[in-house]
Amino acid sequence: MEKLAQLYEGKAKKVYKTSEPGMVWIEYKDDATAFNGEKKGQIAGKGMLNNEISAIFLSLLKEKGVDNHFIKKISSREQIVRQVDIIPIEVVVRNIAAGSLAKRLGWEEGTELPQAIVEFYYKNDELGDPFINNDHVAILGLATESELADIHKQALRINEILKEYLMTRNLILVDFKLEFGQTPEGQIILADEISPDTCRFWDAHTKEKLDKDRFRRDLGNVEEAYQEILRRLGGKVDV
Ligand code: UDP
Repeated sequence: MEKLAQLYEGKAKKVYKTSEPGMVWIEYKDDATAFNGEKKGQIAGKGMLNNEISAIFLSLLKEKGVDNHFIKKISSREQIVRQVDIIPIEVVVRNIAAGSLAKRLGWEEGTELPQAIVEFYYKNDELGDPFINNDHVAILGLATESELADIHKQALRINEILKEYLMTRNLILVDFKLEFGQTPEGQIILADEISPDTCRFWDAHTKEKLDKDRFRRDLGNVEEAYQEILRRLGGKVDV
């Protein structure tokens, strides 16, 4: 398979066309951004770590019957995925109050939620990814009611699988963001990445933060936290 023209460059990844129809080539970058791009930096080795971490999670989900775009990892920072039309909705699932939810509800960070919450945000950098509900999704024409119900159901299933798996690795899945895409056949599948950039992971005992909050909040040892996640998942980076 050949890598062809760049299709898109995002904050954390570059996407290229390939010689294979229906497949795209993803390159994970070390660039890190937070607060809608206001804070910028680099996390050494992040591209390699997230490529491997995401491959582990997406493979696990596939094994458990959650179809997704992942096909194969091809190098330390590159993977091949199915080409899908990304639905511009950021789907956030939460088990514990943190970040924007803690702020919005006035709940102390770390408070366990009585049940998992699914939230939708409009994926639009200019607007700063605003919080939206089902009615907004409908009037913006982002997804039909049944597609949104499908996304909601898949998000909760993914949460159950990841939460349970991470608990065996002494990690609490606090919250995370998912993106879904539509295949040419009209199926809605999980896409994008699942990594410490897009999830909050806390050590189950010490509650130490092992994710991008270390970058957002200048807590130090950012790279080490990402490495620790990979170590607990049993993966390794091949340099
Ligand atoms: N998240 C993300 N991309 C975004 C916004 C949020 O991956 O553009 C993830 C974030 O890492 C966290 C979850 O979604 O795991 C919930 O984030 P929250 O709404 O609390 O916003 P934040 O505090 O990150 O601004």
